[in-house]
Parts: sequence; structure tokens; C-alpha cells
Amino acid sequence: MDDYRVVKGEEGERYVGEILKNVLLRMDYEYRLVQNTYLPFKSVYGEFGYISAEFDFTVFTPFYIYIIEVKNESYSNCDYSAPLWELNDKDKTTVSNAINQNHTHKEVFCSEMNIPLEKVITIEILLDNDDVIKEKTSFPNDFVFGKEELEDNLFYLLSSENCIRLDCQKNYDSFIKLVEDKGITKEEHIAILKRTEKIETRIRNVIKKKKRIEYIPFKRTDIVKCNCCGVGNLRFKDKLYKSTEKNKKDSRHYFLGCSSYGNSNISCNRGLVYVDDNKEIYEFLTLKPIHIENRNNWGDERVNKTVLDEMNEIKKRSDKLIKENEECNNRIKELSISLKSIQNDKNAAEARIIELKSENTYLKADNKTKAEEISCFKKIFGRFYIRSK
Ligand SMILES: [Zn+2]
Repeated sequence: MDDYRVVKGEEGERYVGEILKNVLLRMDYEYRLVQNTYLPFKSVYGEFGYISAEFDFTVFTPFYIYIIEVKNESYSNCDYSAPLWELNDKDKTTVSNAINQNHTHKEVFCSEMNIPLEKVITIEILLDNDDVIKEKTSFPNDFVFGKEELEDNLFYLLSSENCIRLDCQKNYDSFIKLVEDKGITKEEHIAILKRTEKIETRIRNVIKKKKRIEYIPFKRTDIVKCNCCGVGNLRFKDKLYKSTEKNKKDSRHYFLGCSSYGNSNISCNRGLVYVDDNKEIYEFLTLKPIHIENRNNWGDERVNKTVLDEMNEIKKRSDKLIKENEECNNRIKELSISLKSIQNDKNAAEARIIELKSENTYLKADNKTKAEEISCFKKIFGRFYIRSK
């Protein structure tokens, strides 16, 4: 990771830290806020059986625990379901999906702390990507926020209460104890992360070459029991081969070995399982990892109803009403236009009636004159008729 990205990341965390502190000051419950902690957890990737996870912010409250991941990077595409996201930089660097990454943090936290999944709410804050955040993620009790309305969203979410209360101080103390137990520093965490990424890349390349598929058999939270002694766990080790006449460059090889190897009480004879271009990968692919959810017997996670969910529902309903009202107003406008045109027709018809009426009166008068003229003529004609008889 280059310096610019590190500086920008730290700026983002400072920005969120200030907002988070303001939000928490408005709450009427006790809370503990911890920033940038490194928690070790069991993993097949760990040289000594564990690797580490970085928690940007962890908030302990009497109702829930919040795990917050802050990203101050611009992604060209952050499809929630894609395992890798692409940065908007000149190299189109690929990085881990922040939502999956924070979900792993939650699993690690719940597993190490022995806390039920539904008591932990995850939040991913993508400061440079307001346009892409609309939908819910596939994980229960997980929220993605942008910079827009960040304080309000955090305020409503952190206002959520639950009838099953947590011991805020006790949970905070246990977490700090776990963090301080191995005392992983930022530098150590980065080194562990880089080594893990290297092993993952090596596995991906070897499998892709041999089987033409993109596939990594182990998640970072997996462990693999040794099928020889049944006691130890398999772990990734690495060995550096110095450059030779033939191979000018140093090369690093990765292999899995049992943690009981060299232990005089167990003396495991498990051979090494290589992940190498020129070695058979059959044995490697037959290894059965034990996932974190199985080790913890986690079932389906219950979804909590938060104040933020309620606020969003109210907002949705009010938006719907505003839209309906607009439609009503438009219909009224249309109707008043057609009413006006009917009124115009009516006025024209009335004017025509008046016209016809006066025409009628004139005709009547004319008719009368004609009748009188005829009757007079009749008289004359009569007389004439009588006279001619
Ligand atoms: Zn063994």
C-alpha cells in the first residue's frame, strides 16, 4: 500500500472518529469506544497458528457492539457480491471487498469473545463512494454508509435498544485483554497481512495453472486438523531458497506442516504438503478445512430491528405519500382543464340557444304578419269567391 493511500485512510478514520464521538455524546447510555486494535485469531495461514484482524472502530454499548470499517478510497465498481473491488487509480488496483472483510472481523470477534452474532452490528463507511450505496448487503445486521447523512445514520443506528442487555465494561475489558495478550503492533499486523496475501496469491496461481479455475480452498478463518496425529493443526510455513547458478533469483516456497512436528510427546510424522508449481496438488486439495461457523456451532443469525430501519421505513412511507399527493395534484390539474373546456362548450351552447330563441321570436312575429296577410287575402278571396258564385 503506497503512502498516499495510508495518509488518505488515516484522514478518513479521523473524520469518522470525530463524528462518532459526537454521536456517542448524544446517547444516554454508557459506552466504550476503541480505535485501531489488532486482534489475533486462529488460522491455517498463521506461521504460529494465528493471523490478525484490524478493527478500525469498536463501540461497546449496553445493547449492541458495533464493528466499524472505514474506507477512504474511490472504487470504480463496488459490487457487494464481488470478492475483489477495483480502485479508481491508474493501475486499477484490486483490493478486498470491504463488506466481506468486515464480516470476517465480526466472525473473528464473536468467535474469540464468545458473543452471539446478533449482538454485533457491522458498519462499512465508504467515504468516497456515495453514489453506489443504496442496497442492503447479504449479511444480517450489516450496514453500508457513505459520507452523505453519515452523522444521522450513525445516530439512528446507535440509538437502537434491545431487551437483552450486555455488560459494556466487561466486554470491553475482555476485548482489551485479548488484544493485549499477544500485543500485535501495526507493523506486525501489516507483515502478517502481506504474508497471508502472498500465500493466497501463490495458491490461486498454482491451482489456476493446474486446474484452470480460480479457487482458494481455505478462508482466512479456517483451521485444518492434522489427519496423522489428530492433535495438531496444519499451518503454512515458508522456506526461502537462496539463488543458485540455475535460478538467479531467491525463491520462496510454501508448504503445510503439522504444529505437533518436533513435539516429543506426540512426534507427528505428517509429511509436508507443498503448494508448488512443480508438485502434485492432489493432496493439498483433499485437505478438509474446519470453518469458523462450524467450530462455533453458529446457526442462522437473527436480524435486529434498529431505529435506523424504522426511520428508513417511515421515510419510504412518507416518500410514497408525497408521490401519491403529487399524482393527485396532477389529476386535479387535468380535471380542471377539462372542466374549463366543458364550461366553454356550455357557454357557447347557451349563446347559441339565445341566438336561436331570438331567431324564433323573429320568425314567430314574421309568421303572424304573414297569417294576417293571408286571412285578409282570404277575406278578399272569399268575397271574390262568393261574388263569382
Ligand atoms: Zn500431526
